[in-house]
Amino acid sequence: MAKYDNSFTDELRQRLSLVDVISRRVPLTKKGQNYWGCCPFHNEKTPSFSVSEEKGFYHCFGCGEHGDIISFVMKSENLDFKNAIKELADMAGMKLPEIKQKSKQQLEAEENYVKITESASKIYQDLLYQDIGKHALEYIKKRGFSDEMIKKYCIGYAPKNNIISSKFSNININKLTSTGLVRIGEYGPYDFFRDKLMFPIFNAHNQIVAFSGRSLDGSEPKYINTPDTELFHKRQTIFGFNFAREFIHKQNRSIIVEGQIDAIQMQNHGFGETVAPLGTALTEDHIAILCKSNRNITFCFDGDNAGQKAAMRACLLVLPFLRDNSEIKFAFVTGGKDPDEILKNSGESAMHKIIDSATPLIDFLWDNVNKNYLINTPGGRAQAEKFLKDCTSKITDKIFQNEIEQEYNQRKFNQWHKWKQQKYTPNIELPDIDSMTLNVIKSIVQKYPELSEKYLEFLSSLNISFDDNVQDTNLSLIDAEKYIVSFKLQRYIKSLQSEKQEILKKALENNISDPSVLQEIEDKLKEAHDKLETLLDMNNK
Ligand SMILES: [Zn+2]
Repeated sequence: MAKYDNSFTDELRQRLSLVDVISRRVPLTKKGQNYWGCCPFHNEKTPSFSVSEEKGFYHCFGCGEHGDIISFVMKSENLDFKNAIKELADMAGMKLPEIKQKSKQQLEAEENYVKITESASKIYQDLLYQDIGKHALEYIKKRGFSDEMIKKYCIGYAPKNNIISSKFSNININKLTSTGLVRIGEYGPYDFFRDKLMFPIFNAHNQIVAFSGRSLDGSEPKYINTPDTELFHKRQTIFGFNFAREFIHKQNRSIIVEGQIDAIQMQNHGFGETVAPLGTALTEDHIAILCKSNRNITFCFDGDNAGQKAAMRACLLVLPFLRDNSEIKFAFVTGGKDPDEILKNSGESAMHKIIDSATPLIDFLWDNVNKNYLINTPGGRAQAEKFLKDCTSKITDKIFQNEIEQEYNQRKFNQWHKWKQQKYTPNIELPDIDSMTLNVIKSIVQKYPELSEKYLEFLSSLNISFDDNVQDTNLSLIDAEKYIVSFKLQRYIKSLQSEKQEILKKALENNISDPSVLQEIEDKLKEAHDKLETLLDMNNK
């Protein structure tokens, strides 16, 4: 029988969920660890057909049918192996490779490749402990790496000179370049990695197939990786996965951090299930690989804007993988730190706190929608609703999708429409804006939703309801924006004035008797005040 390259069928299994494929023919329900349904291979009324996503097998306790994703398609659709693979490849959106068995030459080439990358790694590891690698060793030690960790992760140093191309000059140049370690330039072969701290990247069989090199002189990019080769595909490789796999099973979850050093430090501080993508971008393939073990992922990002954005990206990527038993969470490390620093400065317990208090996906999505849309306007709510609908439609498990939509409907009713009730209990403290201004602002928000979005933060800080219908303003878009900006500035000056009083009050309480200090405060405030007045004037022109 013709055989496909194992790596292709492996990838098919990796990309496709057995439960998804079987659900197309047989309704399944989850009970315990497995899914159950009525066997498609014999006639029955009570389900005895069990599917294990984790193990990748189905088994019927009634008739004894048993197999994996490929045999299921073959048997249930009466297809031969070749056509079953074709159908599965279609589902996975993958192109069918030519049927071929790995030739002897190919196997030999792969063996040679690994021989080269592994001996290169040995050379790098030796150099780290020699004079030439002193600064690299200093750096990695400063990052809290023990000799033991350096050895475990096979960390090394690639010097500036072309060590690999010269040491391996007796090896066929095509073989050398196939590993990505050596390139051919105008003046002959040269090393791809130079003056880099070297982190090897392992394949599923624990062989070194590529490297990630960190720059040591502060030059950007911080990391460069081996370019894609026959045996290394960046989009499908997760850093640290070979070490983490066992723990991902044991802990029944994986943690994804942003950096490779973070992943190593986490693994060595009680979070063995931690991995990192190579480079910055997380891919669907990464998530598919992790979801093969279980569908419980905690993402750990920086708390800054970039981190929030990356988290949202991850959230959208992970939605199609969501099942009713998945636990997807988002943790944020705040204060401009990364997990590595948290562990070093505050210890494992601080990190546990961060991971344990991670936000579940359903809340993360909800919070983001509320932050990003102007919920107290009908337009903003409509946009938010569309976005939420887009997100939930990505969930493939229909029953679960329905449950989540209902949950969000509940929240919309309770939280978004609550302010409607507030209208009947007017708050006498708010607004401290005269009614004419209030009307103009409201009419601007209704007439120009784009301005509402632009000044979302400011408008929501006013704490006023935008729901009631007001008379249309006859301001043009430009004048409307001018109006909002000048109103914003007026409010700001007002707050500055009250702040000034506060500061002066404090200064007096603290018994500042030096009149020059008081004068200085007065001058500084006046300066700020004048600047704002000028801005205001400019705006009114
Ligand atoms: Zn059966």
